[in-house]
Amino acid sequence: MKVLVLNCGSSSLKFQLIETDQKRIESQTEEVLAEGQVEKIGQAESIVSYKNHKGDRIKETPVILEHAAAVGVLLKHLTHAKHGVIEKTEDIEAIGHRVVHGGEMFSESAVIDSAVLEKIRECASLAPLHNPPNILGYEVASQTLPNIPHVAVFDTAFHQTMPDYAFIYALPYVLYQRFQIRRYGFHGSSHRYVSQRLGKLAEQPTEDIKSITIHIGNGCSMAAIKGGHSVDTSMGMTPLEGLVMGTRAGDIDPAIILFLMEKENLELDQANNLLNKHSGLLGITSVSNDMRELEKAMEKGNDRARLAIDIFCYRIKKYIGAYIAALGGCDHIAFTAGIGENSPLVRRKVCEGLECFGLKLDKTRNDELNREEGLISTDDSSIKVWIVPTNEEIVIARDTMTCVTERMGTNTPASDKWPDLPAGSVGRES
Ligand code: ADP
Repeated sequence: MKVLVLNCGSSSLKFQLIETDQKRIESQTEEVLAEGQVEKIGQAESIVSYKNHKGDRIKETPVILEHAAAVGVLLKHLTHAKHGVIEKTEDIEAIGHRVVHGGEMFSESAVIDSAVLEKIRECASLAPLHNPPNILGYEVASQTLPNIPHVAVFDTAFHQTMPDYAFIYALPYVLYQRFQIRRYGFHGSSHRYVSQRLGKLAEQPTEDIKSITIHIGNGCSMAAIKGGHSVDTSMGMTPLEGLVMGTRAGDIDPAIILFLMEKENLELDQANNLLNKHSGLLGITSVSNDMRELEKAMEKGNDRARLAIDIFCYRIKKYIGAYIAALGGCDHIAFTAGIGENSPLVRRKVCEGLECFGLKLDKTRNDELNREEGLISTDDSSIKVWIVPTNEEIVIARDTMTCVTERMGTNTPASDKWPDLPAGSVGRES
């Protein structure tokens, strides 16, 4: 099945066309036929990048004023006579949409029909910046390709298995009941992908594994995963909690916000910007939110860059300790995303001092293995440490294929299944 995976942001549209089927899912060998993105939608000049599995690459800067036109552009490239990978748009059999927030309503992916769409809209109050563009992505794609199934895959869904004592905050309980204030966690598709790969790499059934996955890119989060299920994660009701990130503060004493709002006379928006856009690595250093820049600055003697990297790694180390306790032990730790896959320095600093848990990092493996899947601990380390490059799109394609196959299992003719699903005949949400 050819699944188009869409990740729609407010001014961007990322896509991958993935070939998948049951066999490929079982052997984890899905193939990316083409991928790319349209950036700066609505601006004077948009940027379109496209590459296919044969190595052809396209970069162009047309004017693309709206998301519907961006979908047209990506379809034009996918079906292009020279660098295209399908003959006609009808060859796309399903579309998987990344949706950031599924609240408590979605613990699994769901075929989008009017009832599901309504629920995704309800969840927008929990992710006002993310869910609306995700919905827009569905709307424009379903107008262009109305006769195929569209599936929503949620960043939060994987963490819905957390026990209540891990997701309830110590606030008046009525706030959870009234506003659904609780820990949701994000990066779910990434943590799920990495934990599934660990099973494959370690040749162990996922059910038997206790693992800690460390997703450190611009956004950073960790998950404690037992038997393939998330039991805790560092991001909270929003993606602000937890680790230090490029520009986000992560964990701080909440009273600091009240203090600052009073001292600096901050409005809500200003406080929000302070915590989300001016904090983290950038806030500490005033140099950059980019780990590569900070490593260079540290080498040149910038002590604030040294401090930011130390704080960043120390926070991760503390969470590892906490998650070993939460899991009652740990078999595998995996680093993923831009920093996790590329920075031997960060991985080394995080693992230093964890020898008390039997963790032994192999210096040579850690220095030599980059952007590649593999083991970076010694063979006799009791906790195995891995690099596992993440692939959220593969998880979205897998779920799309699975949801569609399940729906196809009902006895409705294919032509009747997708466009006019009656409200209420919801797929797999709970
Ligand atoms: P996003 O969360 O936007 O998907 P990425 O996963 O691409 O981000 O991660 C971006 C981060 O990865 C940046 O901080 C960048 O500096 C870092 N990074 C990328 N390559 C390297 C490298 N070679 N060494 C250290 N950090 C790197």
